[in-house]
Amino acid sequence: MRIFAIGRNYAEHIKELNNERPDEPVIFTKPDTAVIRNNAPFYYPEFSKDVHHEVELVLRVSKEGKNIQDKFASKYYDAIGIGIDFTARDLQQKAKEKGLPWDIAKGFNGSAPLSDKFLLVSDFKDLKNINFSLSINGELRQQGNTSLMLFDFDYIISYLSKFFTLRTGDLIFTGTPKGVGPVKVGDRLAAYIENEKLLEFDVK
Ligand code: MG
Repeated sequence: MRIFAIGRNYAEHIKELNNERPDEPVIFTKPDTAVIRNNAPFYYPEFSKDVHHEVELVLRVSKEGKNIQDKFASKYYDAIGIGIDFTARDLQQKAKEKGLPWDIAKGFNGSAPLSDKFLLVSDFKDLKNINFSLSINGELRQQGNTSLMLFDFDYIISYLSKFFTLRTGDLIFTGTPKGVGPVKVGDRLAAYIENEKLLEFDVK
């Protein structure tokens, strides 16, 4: 199982980090050791002082494919979960300034808490109108809707598959809406698709 992730996929989030709007999806990956499941706690790493939450919808790939055309892309994913793309913003900022890769800032141990439950694509009325959100200690912090994505699910599948053969079980983090910010020890994060809480864990 591989974890792909899309950066800068929501315009308002691009603005809040003063990034440029990309012409094509920004792709990065996380190792499978980044995943946390079963609502297990996230342990704040000692190498960062500025770990940010980024709540994201996560696609589950259901069929192997490469060079997938946009019009067939919907046949290659079957479920949507929710996850946090934890980012060591201080390490990422340093890497960006030097034009270096983001791997340690994005792929460290525990940087990808993920819902155990995924919702079937066939159960959604409209994939271009899915609400999702993150609350911390009961307070709403991030709220997104898939209508605001620069690159939709089908385009992401098609684009990724030009470079990487997608395999059944691969996961794709599809980008975060505005409202990213730091977490601290003692926080309790809860992530929702529509009104269903799918992920909840503590920062320790
Ligand atoms: Mg992200």
